[in-house]
Amino acid sequence: MPEPEMPGGGPAEAQWFTGEPDRTRARWGSGGDRVRMVGVNDEEPAAGGAADRPGSAAQPDPGLEAGHAAAQDSDLEAGHAAGQDTDLEAAHDAAQDPDLEAGHAARQDVAVPVGTEGVTLLGATEVRRLAAELDLRPTKSLGQNFVHDANTVRRIASVSKLDQSGHVLEIGPGLGSLTLALLEVSATVTAVEIDSRLADLLPGTVARHALSRAGDLTVITADALAIRGSDIPGAPTALVANLPYNVAVPVLLHLLAELPSLRRVVVMVQAEVADRLVAPPGSRTYGSPSVKTAWYGTAKRAGAIGRSVFWPVPGVDSALVGFDRHPVPRTGDRRSVFAVIDAAFAQRRKTLRAALSGWAGSPVRAEQLLRAADVDPGLRGEMLDIDAFVRIAHARLTADAQVLA
Ligand code: SAM
Repeated sequence: MPEPEMPGGGPAEAQWFTGEPDRTRARWGSGGDRVRMVGVNDEEPAAGGAADRPGSAAQPDPGLEAGHAAAQDSDLEAGHAAGQDTDLEAAHDAAQDPDLEAGHAARQDVAVPVGTEGVTLLGATEVRRLAAELDLRPTKSLGQNFVHDANTVRRIASVSKLDQSGHVLEIGPGLGSLTLALLEVSATVTAVEIDSRLADLLPGTVARHALSRAGDLTVITADALAIRGSDIPGAPTALVANLPYNVAVPVLLHLLAELPSLRRVVVMVQAEVADRLVAPPGSRTYGSPSVKTAWYGTAKRAGAIGRSVFWPVPGVDSALVGFDRHPVPRTGDRRSVFAVIDAAFAQRRKTLRAALSGWAGSPVRAEQLLRAADVDPGLRGEMLDIDAFVRIAHARLTADAQVLA
């Protein structure tokens, strides 16, 4: 596979930024190896360079690998389809993009109009410079497609309806494009990045581009799939992210479960995954991601994103999904409900009577439980809304309790 080129030109000589801004934030989390907080005063990288550092993509941390394994056997097959389609080889197209070469107005190095004084956003040239600084070769397995368009990140921040009192959680800040746009409009940002090279670089980037806001950023080096709510300082009210496409849905559902404080979510995902997240019952794209997301709240499409705003250019289309958590949390046992959903969609072409026979113990018992839940056993799972799945799980719990009594 040819190496991806930097947008607007070839790889530049790798070098580390050695400036040490006066706003500092260097803290270490309590999560041992699982979670690490970094700041602008952290030690300079070892002379061996990024590829030698533990946790870098070049030397994957076994713990992180485990996290991905967990994602792979999770319920949300859609995310994997996304990752597999991503075409990093198309990176060459980015380098040849005439807009990039010409320094299209929206993609220039320093975007001047800002919501907060002193914040400048990243354009193609700065993305190229940062990537060269790390000698970065974006990896497909981590879904590393970086946005180099200031208008796009500002649009995402705007759709998120953040305010200056909010605390935003960003997953996968990468080179910092979206992070800077979030710092323009939000009080504090906590960024969780799996790639330690990118996590270590970010505080310096923010110090250069948003010095007045550098103290409001916390960077955590961790796998978002393994992070616990207690690893995140404070209680973030919003999740805004250009999610790694191969684990987008598992990450979203994991964070909704771990962080009840999250009220608003805006995520960029593969367009097909966006369709699944927002699909209503009975539609072709309705499935386990749709109904599990509906457990927590309401998801809506919030616009399409063109491929050319990324480096490397992905081989798939992207879209924004906006999500609002239900004001009042659902009652019921989430794990029991999700177990029914998993069983129903594992064999989505079968009737519920057949698809749930293993989960219930037999087709006869499945039919009894479905009737108790006022659900037609001849239907397929794709016709049921979240309320019906809640009723089925409740019928099973009630029947089990009667047996024990
Ligand atoms: N936010 C940046 C942007 O918009 O340019 C980068 C987005 S890129 C699509 C996804 C980012 O997520 C990469 O920086 C990648 O290293 C990071 N990432 C991948 N898997 C992750 C995981 N499990 N936990 C945290 N970060 C992850």
